[in-house]
Amino acid sequence: MAESVQQNASVSPAPAVLGAQQPQRAQGSITPQGTLAVYEPGSGKLLGEVRVATREQVRETVLVASAAQAEWARKSFAERREVLLRFKDLLLQRADEFCDHITRENGKTRNESLFMEVLPVADAVNWYARHASKLLKDEKLSLHMFPHKKSYLRFYPRGVIGLISPWNYPFSIPTGDAVAALMAGNAVVVKPSEYTPLIMEKTRALFEEAGLPRGLFAVVQGKGEVGAEMIRAGVNMIVFTGSVATGKKVNVAAAEQMIPCVLELGGKDPAIVLADADLDSAAKKIAWGAFANSGQTCASVERVYVHESIAGPFTDKVAALARTLRQGEPNQHDVDIGAMTTQMQVDLIQRHLDDARARGAKIVTGGEITVTKEGARFVQPTVLTGTTSEMAIIRDETFGPMLPVMTFKTEEEAVRLANDSAYGLSAYVFTRSKAKADAIANQLMAGTVMHNDTLYTHAAPETPWGGVKSSGLGRVHGKHGMRDFCEVRHVNLEHFNFPAFWYYPYSREAWSKGLRVYRTLLGAGLSNKLKALFGKH
Ligand code: NDP
Repeated sequence: MAESVQQNASVSPAPAVLGAQQPQRAQGSITPQGTLAVYEPGSGKLLGEVRVATREQVRETVLVASAAQAEWARKSFAERREVLLRFKDLLLQRADEFCDHITRENGKTRNESLFMEVLPVADAVNWYARHASKLLKDEKLSLHMFPHKKSYLRFYPRGVIGLISPWNYPFSIPTGDAVAALMAGNAVVVKPSEYTPLIMEKTRALFEEAGLPRGLFAVVQGKGEVGAEMIRAGVNMIVFTGSVATGKKVNVAAAEQMIPCVLELGGKDPAIVLADADLDSAAKKIAWGAFANSGQTCASVERVYVHESIAGPFTDKVAALARTLRQGEPNQHDVDIGAMTTQMQVDLIQRHLDDARARGAKIVTGGEITVTKEGARFVQPTVLTGTTSEMAIIRDETFGPMLPVMTFKTEEEAVRLANDSAYGLSAYVFTRSKAKADAIANQLMAGTVMHNDTLYTHAAPETPWGGVKSSGLGRVHGKHGMRDFCEVRHVNLEHFNFPAFWYYPYSREAWSKGLRVYRTLLGAGLSNKLKALFGKH
């Protein structure tokens, strides 16, 4: 276990390696000593433990964060930037150590820890740090009807932002959001998933080493009730990333506190492959979109609709690619598919596979699930055909390396099938024609549509991220996400005094004048305007 985690007060040191015979406690269960134990998904070994926060500790953490925020909000963008850029530099220096830890704790491959967790965060820090002052500078509004006044929009930090985060990207999701919130002048309290709590302790230590005031980025550990307590403990906004079921509860809890709430929820993202697509490129990018992080990505490709004329060659290519992927202990560079983070997810994938098989789907390749006696768990990258919209694997989020391939005849049908889902996070279109991709993008009900690519814009900090329908509410990332971490306050200043006609005393004359002015300005066509100006009122 990494030194900085062991040194942390809220993390109990764990034996470096437990014997293979050591019985594994249920993942995510709380010990009689009030700790959560974390086991490596790739080996089943104990990685570490964290102490679960009590109700009082959650409240105290939010209070301390709030006090630290008052001070931090007074700092200039340049002062905040300096600290966060130091954090980025330290992260780049320790990339190897962070990737090693993320892989051990979450089970994704070492390369995925680098390219999907650590590097996107380093880049996001750099981007927010350099652009915050521009994104959050006062915005002047000219008022077309009131030229004697000027309005200004000002972006004030909200205070303490509560982040509730999932286990699939335990570093990049909370840290990316935290950096935007901090640059905007807020404090952050994170409640990580009970399955992957350790990496946030390392992150907190790194922020402090970079010079972030203590308490400004805090972590409260525990299960769902700790997240629920945090919402009640005086935070000023909640950003929740997780399942639809929990998201609904969080939304209600935030409403009770009258605080804003952004919900980043699940997906069942479709890819449409048109007849003119570059098949090699489409197969490669769709395979990555479906299998990366063992399919445990909110925006994973979970359904593919291929034009019937190319369905055979496309399926052959994607299946051939799936067969070449090397699966195994994830902390090695030459492994393509790592381990499944939770047993709960493995069980759900098994149910989806069983249901698909029972209803007549064909497994073209893959379909094997392995759980070792030490507790390591792997799901083979799997390509299916013959799936239909009645099957759970097409209807519900699978969150595993499953790629069902279906066909369509017309583009209208492809769009209809893609939109036939309760979710709407991302959607992908493969075609050589940018015009066709753009036209289809306009018809897809998704927060993000990518042309000839999958997944990657989550790592492009300037692009907004979020879904429509059951995939969530609000956006993170980019200008809109960053501004959401602020209250927009409106200040209206006077340039000169203008004796407008709506003040007291009311009179028939004021009424006529007002009507004349508005009919002249707003009336359609010159003759109507002239009539309004010179006619009787
Ligand atoms: P969950 O909804 O199970 O948990 C998310 C977080 O909420 C965890 O920290 C959890 O704690 C906490 N929580 C549970 N109950 C409550 C409660 N009543 N009040 C407050 N917090 C609570 O999701 P998963 O962790 O299983 O994450 C997987 C889901 O996340 C998938 O559906 C995936 O699509 C979605 N996701 C969405 C993304 C997006 O950007 N749209 C990105 C990544 C994932 P604990 O774990 O301790 O129970």
